[in-house]
Amino acid sequence: MTATTRRLFTLSATALLTSALAAQTPAFGPANPFYAPSTLPFQAPPFDKIKDTDYQPAIEAGMAAQRAEVDAIANNPAAPTFENTIVAMEKTGALLNRASLVFYGVVQANTNDTLQAVQEAMAPKLAAHQDAISLNTKLFARISTLYNERATLKLDPESLRLLEYDYQQFVKAGANLNDADKTKLKKLNEEDAVLETAFTNKLLAGTKAAAFTTTDKSKLAGLSDAQIASAALAAKERKVEGYVVPLQNTTQQPDLTFLTDRATRQQIFEDSFERTERGGENDTRATIARLAKVRAEKAALLGFPNYAAWNLQDQMAKTPEAALKFMDALVAPATAKANGEAKDIQDLIDSQKGGFQLQPWDWNFYAEQVRKAKYDLDESQVKPYFELHRVLTDGVFYAANQLYGITFKPRTDIPVYQPDVFVYEVFDADGKPLALAYFDYFKRDNKAGGAWMSEFVTQSTLLGTLPVIYNVANFQKPAPGEPALISFDDATTMFHEFGHGLHGIFANTIYPSLSGPNVPRDFVEFPSQFNEHWASYPSVFNHYARHYKTGEPMPAELVAKIKKAATFNKGYATTEALAAAELDMQWHLLPSSTPEQPVDIFENRALLKTRLNLPAVPPRYRSSYFLHIWANGYAAGYYAYSWSEMLDDDAYQWFEDHGGLTRANGDRFRKMVLSRGNTEDLDKMYSTWRGGEPSVTPMMKFRGLTPGN
Ligand SMILES: [Zn+2]
Repeated sequence: MTATTRRLFTLSATALLTSALAAQTPAFGPANPFYAPSTLPFQAPPFDKIKDTDYQPAIEAGMAAQRAEVDAIANNPAAPTFENTIVAMEKTGALLNRASLVFYGVVQANTNDTLQAVQEAMAPKLAAHQDAISLNTKLFARISTLYNERATLKLDPESLRLLEYDYQQFVKAGANLNDADKTKLKKLNEEDAVLETAFTNKLLAGTKAAAFTTTDKSKLAGLSDAQIASAALAAKERKVEGYVVPLQNTTQQPDLTFLTDRATRQQIFEDSFERTERGGENDTRATIARLAKVRAEKAALLGFPNYAAWNLQDQMAKTPEAALKFMDALVAPATAKANGEAKDIQDLIDSQKGGFQLQPWDWNFYAEQVRKAKYDLDESQVKPYFELHRVLTDGVFYAANQLYGITFKPRTDIPVYQPDVFVYEVFDADGKPLALAYFDYFKRDNKAGGAWMSEFVTQSTLLGTLPVIYNVANFQKPAPGEPALISFDDATTMFHEFGHGLHGIFANTIYPSLSGPNVPRDFVEFPSQFNEHWASYPSVFNHYARHYKTGEPMPAELVAKIKKAATFNKGYATTEALAAAELDMQWHLLPSSTPEQPVDIFENRALLKTRLNLPAVPPRYRSSYFLHIWANGYAAGYYAYSWSEMLDDDAYQWFEDHGGLTRANGDRFRKMVLSRGNTEDLDKMYSTWRGGEPSVTPMMKFRGLTPGN
C-alpha cells in the first residue's frame, strides 16, 4: 500500500465536522518549525522541535500562501508561458506541502486526540482549497492556451508530459464544460457525494447489525481461547449477553477457517452476504442503483460513453477494454484452478463422510485442513529464521545493494516522531547521498492498521529536493531484550514497502507532480510487488533467513515448504478478486441511457456473463457492500490490484530471462522505470523497458494457474 500524495490534488476529501479547536489556533510565525525549510540533512522534518499545535497554523498559512501564489499566476497580465504558468504552479504550495506531508505521516502512524481534532478541522478546508485551485477558470484558460500550442512550444518530453497531465486533470474535473453543464456536473457531483455518504453509513450500520450473536458457547467450537475471549469482549462492548463475532468487510470471514459447527459457519456467511440486503434502512441496493446511474450521467456530460471510460483515461490501462481483456485472459485458468481446489476439498469432505456438497461457508475450514495435510507449515518453526533487523539489513538492503549498488548507513542523529522509529541514509553506488529512509515497524494502539509507504519530502530537481521516504508496518513488538521475530509474510511486507520506497528513493525528475510514486493507481503497486520477488530469491533468502541464535541457514525442507505453500488456494483468491473487479467494471460500463438496475439481477447476470459465477466462490465483495467502488475512490478501479500483479510478475520474468539478480539488470530497471515516476506514458515506459507489452502468462505461472500446478 502507498499513501502517496499529489501536490495540488492532495489528501482525502472526507468531510468531517469542524472542531472547536480551529478557532483558537496560535498565530503562525518564525517560531513555528514549518515556517522555513528544515535545515536538517535532506530537509528532514525537525521532529525534535515540532509540537502537535504547530501543524494547524502551518497548514492554514500554507493554504493561504498557495491561494495567493495561484491567484498571482492566474491573474498575471503577461501572456501564458510554460515557465510563468506550469512551472510556476509546480513551485506553489511549498509551506503547505512541508507541513501537510509531515502531518499526514504522523497522524496515520502516531496519532492522538489533538492531531485527530486538527485532522477533522482541516479536512473540509483542504477539500475547499483544492476546489478553489482546480475550478479556477482563469488558471485553466492559461493552461488550455498552452496545451493547444503545445506542438510549437519546443518542450522537453518531461515538460510536455507535465503540461498534458495538468490539462488532463483539469478537463477530467470538468474545466472544459460550458457554464450550464458545469452547473449540471456540480449537481451530479453533489448527488454522488450524498449517495456515497449514505452508502457508507448504511454499510457501517448494516455490517454492525449483521454481527453473529449467540449465548451458546458451543456454537463457537474451534475458535481459540483468545478468539472466544475477544467475542465475549465484543458482546460486552455492545452490552449484549454471550458472544458477538463482528463482520469484516470482505465476503469471507476469518473465523470460518476455525469454526467446526457447520450451521454456525453458514449463519455467519449468510449474515455477511446479506448484510445490506435485508430491506429496511440499512439496505444499500437503491443507493447503489442510483449511484451507478448518476456516474453514467456524469460521464456522458463529460463526453464519455460510460464512467469507466472517463475514469480510466489517465490510468496505465487507459480504456475499460484493456482492463477487460486482461481480466478475461485470467478467468479460465483461475476458475480451473479454483475448481481443482474445490475438488480437493470435496474429496476431503467425502473422506470424512460429511455427506454434503461444498458451500462457500465450508471453503476456508476445509482448505485449512488441506493446507496442513499438503504443506504442514508451522509458523513457530519458521519465525526464528526471520529476525526483523536481519531481514532489513541482510535481506531488503542486501537485495537493493546487489541490484542497484546502493548502500545504507544508520542516522541516529536525525530526530524521529516516536522512539521506535529509526532512520537510514541511502547512498548511491558512487557514494553520493541519495535519500533518507525512516522505518516504523511495530504495532501501536495509535497507529492505523496495515502497512504503507509515503514521503516527508518529494524529490524534484526543480525544487532542489532529495527524497525523504518512510515505511510503516504493524509487526508485533517484542518484549524488552527479546528479538523481533516475524513471519515470512511480514518479511515479504518489508520488501513490498521498500519497493515503494525505491520508487521514491530513485526518483529523478524535474517536477514534483510527476515524481516517484506519484503515478496512477494501476501502476503504483508495481514497484512494490515487484520487489517482493527478491524475498524468496535463493541468494537473498539464504543471506537473511538465518536462525537468530545460531546464524544457521533455514533447513532446506522448511524452505521447500514455504515455496510450495506460495501457490496454495490461489485459484480461490484470484477468482474472488476477479469476480469483484468484474462486478465493479460492469456497473461502471452502463451507459447513461440505461435505467437504474435491480441490483441482484444485475449482479447475477454480470457474473454469468463474465463466467465468474462459481457456486462455491462468491465475489470478494458483493455489489451491495463493495465499499472500494461506491465510496472509496476505486470506482472502475478494482482491477488495478490484479493489473499491478500482472506487471510485477511479468517484470520479474524478464529478470529471470536475463540472468536474475544482477547489477546490470537492476541499473537498467532503475534508469528506465524506477527513476522516472510519471514522466512518460506508463504503458510506453513499461513496454520500452520490457521489449513488448506486458503478458499475463508469468502471473499465471507464479500463481500456479497453469495446468500441472
Ligand atoms: Zn503497496
